[in-house]
Amino acid sequence: MKVFGPVPSRRLGRSLGINNIPPKVCSYACRYCQLGSALTMTTTRRGFFAPDEIAAEVAIKLEALGDFLASVRPAVCRLSSPTRPPACADVRCCDEEHLAAATALLSERGLDVRLLNAYEGNDFVRTGDTREALLSILSVHPMRDDAVRLFLDRDERGQEKLRQAIDDGDILITRWRGATFYARNLRKAAGSRG
Ligand code: SF4
Repeated sequence: MKVFGPVPSRRLGRSLGINNIPPKVCSYACRYCQLGSALTMTTTRRGFFAPDEIAAEVAIKLEALGDFLASVRPAVCRLSSPTRPPACADVRCCDEEHLAAATALLSERGLDVRLLNAYEGNDFVRTGDTREALLSILSVHPMRDDAVRLFLDRDERGQEKLRQAIDDGDILITRWRGATFYARNLRKAAGSRG
């Protein structure tokens, strides 16, 4: 079975298990491994199962997960998908079609489903120095260019400070889903702390 659970999770309460690697195949053989030493220790990249096969099992499990959530009867079920660029470029966001399918799966079981996939707006509040405030926000929250423009409008030297921060390498610019986003250069920030 490549898909199992839901199982108890220390971080999440319960999580759906997806194991796309056969038992005891690993790139390590840790002494503390709860599965024992690896039988096949390899670092060669390869696929073990067809993605369609895994997707079919996940679909079956999602039905079971829907039944489980319906039995718990939460006041609200929230489904989320990133509204800002994830830090890892290969992270893929759930598309509208799959969010709609998940919504239908839960709604047809009588659950109140809310989607958290809409842009949250540009109402960023600045306190103190513009550049420091912007860098603090961007450390945890990439901002769309229109949000940055509004944020800087309240400081007559705002655009100049932004350009300086970009030239200094403190802010990175990225394109995501047709929009321009600004993010803190966390590698540089970490380096300057070390
Ligand atoms: S703990 Fe087990 S599964 Fe995890 S890396 Fe070590 S050998 Fe592999």
